[in-house]
Amino acid sequence: MKLTINDFLDRHYLCVNCNDFCQLYFVTELKFSGKRNRISAKLTNKNILLIIKNSYFKTTSLKLNLVKNTNKFSIININDFKSYIESHDINLLLICNRCKSQIETSNLEFNINNNYLNAFDLRSQYIVLNNKNILYMIYTYYYNNFSIVKVIDPNIDSTRITSELKIPILPNIKYTKNTLLNKIKSYILFS
Ligand SMILES: [Zn+2]
Repeated sequence: MKLTINDFLDRHYLCVNCNDFCQLYFVTELKFSGKRNRISAKLTNKNILLIIKNSYFKTTSLKLNLVKNTNKFSIININDFKSYIESHDINLLLICNRCKSQIETSNLEFNINNNYLNAFDLRSQYIVLNNKNILYMIYTYYYNNFSIVKVIDPNIDSTRITSELKIPILPNIKYTKNTLLNKIKSYILFS
């Protein structure tokens, strides 16, 4: 299921574990280089602002403005941006600074002709849930269609993963900590 920016933020901006707002980044990677770079995004009520390249001169800066409601974007140096997106893979990343839960989208596709960011998929997600001293770590691989749950239960052993199981992919919906915990616990119970 394809997501708009609004869908993505609505479901994942608030950390399910801590209830804190996550930090939004653009992750850019020079194609085939493996070199990744994180750019902090600034969120306002309506927009996401990204400074891809800052320069004293307006003509060589790359400042992207994305409208959350419409997926429309604007940028001054459209030709520079065009060559930038041809040479870089770009995706969105949300990270909770407190528990390090995170979620990353597939590569973004910018439609230059109509200044529109196409709807996107999710690539991977990592959720930490702590509950009564038990730590649950859920890794979801959207391309491979499964999730892995790793548990550290100090009642058994606090120094290692005490159980691990593969579960059907975690649906891309908005969870509360309790609904997600119950779901994970029922998988563990019936595994
Ligand atoms: Zn968190």
